[in-house]
Amino acid sequence: MESIDIHPRALREAATMILEASGSEPEEARIVADHLVLANLSGHDSHGVGMLPAYERSLGNGTLKPNRTVELVRDDGPIMTFDGGMGYGQVVGRQATAAAIERCRSTGVVLAPVRYCHHLGRIGTYGEQVAEAGLASLHFVNVVGHQALVAPYRGTDARYSTNPICLSLPGSDAQPPILLDMATSRIAHGKARVAHNMGEQTPEGSLIDHRGRKTRDPAVLFKQPVGALTSFGDHKGYGLAVFCELLGGMLSGGRTAQPEHEVEGTICNNMFMIVFDPERLIAKSAMEHELAALVAHVKASPAADPEEPVLVPGDPERAMRVERAEAIPVDAESWRQVVAAGERLGVPAGRLEAIAA
Ligand code: NAD
Repeated sequence: MESIDIHPRALREAATMILEASGSEPEEARIVADHLVLANLSGHDSHGVGMLPAYERSLGNGTLKPNRTVELVRDDGPIMTFDGGMGYGQVVGRQATAAAIERCRSTGVVLAPVRYCHHLGRIGTYGEQVAEAGLASLHFVNVVGHQALVAPYRGTDARYSTNPICLSLPGSDAQPPILLDMATSRIAHGKARVAHNMGEQTPEGSLIDHRGRKTRDPAVLFKQPVGALTSFGDHKGYGLAVFCELLGGMLSGGRTAQPEHEVEGTICNNMFMIVFDPERLIAKSAMEHELAALVAHVKASPAADPEEPVLVPGDPERAMRVERAEAIPVDAESWRQVVAAGERLGVPAGRLEAIAA
């Protein structure tokens, strides 16, 4: 696929400009742009600047509210329930995480559900925020507000979405943080769209057609009657996705994917977050030793393919940040859509093209 290389700084500048033109205060525009570009840098283009046209649509139908501050709706010691008020998830999610980190310093553990966030983006960002503070976290997130995308195990049509999970543990001088951050669907919807645009097939077992038959043809998602994505790990990934609904959607006081709730053409994330201080469990030195020894142990397994050594969660994103430090390849179609969205919001295409040149 044709792509253009854009320096991360230039991409951040372009995204900031578009967000400010769309009504965000400079601080909000900076936080959202940083988050999106970090997703691109980490290799998750499906959650990078290519999301800006979707955000424009949500602004247009009034479901995304710029310049919101997260609200602490229930403060019960180690339990803090937040409402994002459909503000930018990158902002309200960050604020809720910061408040949970601060509370965790005194309580040692914090349960912090945050409901009604517009797209939280890459969930690993919040795991990283917690790990940078020397703490650990678990995040279970559901996605509502738009058409369902993923079929339940043994089902034949989509009933919920790509419900992501993130688990993070702080690192040390010897070992960077371990961060598992993943959708519970076998592949992201964005990856199926790219494959469709390029006339390619998706990985084995990642899709079903409208009759529930396995297929590798991504066209089944883009024509009627529509097919669906599948969960990773069959019943196991499906089970985790159900818990994203129950923890993230239900116990946050937000909503689950069941049909009593409105589907208003937006992206609404509800996140169930647990932040805790691992040093309240074992000594820091013991944890650092055990972590480094375990990572060395698993990585010493001889690689099945010498070109692909054993990694731990978080390694691919770190490697990609080094690889993309000077140039992020943005696919031409995504960039065209970003520029078009920018123009509609009042940023001349020429200015964006000049920044990216
Ligand atoms: P992925 O499959 O690329 O990676 C999943 C995890 O596996 C990562 O933690 C990665 O470090 C790890 N990993 C990858 N290869 C590995 C290897 N060889 N060895 C060990 N670990 C390895 O990610 P994904 O499931 O496509 O998700 C992409 C992004 O989409 C995530 O950041 C997620 O938060 C985001 N997402 C967000 C939403 C939302 O609604 N906000 C919904 C779905 C997904």
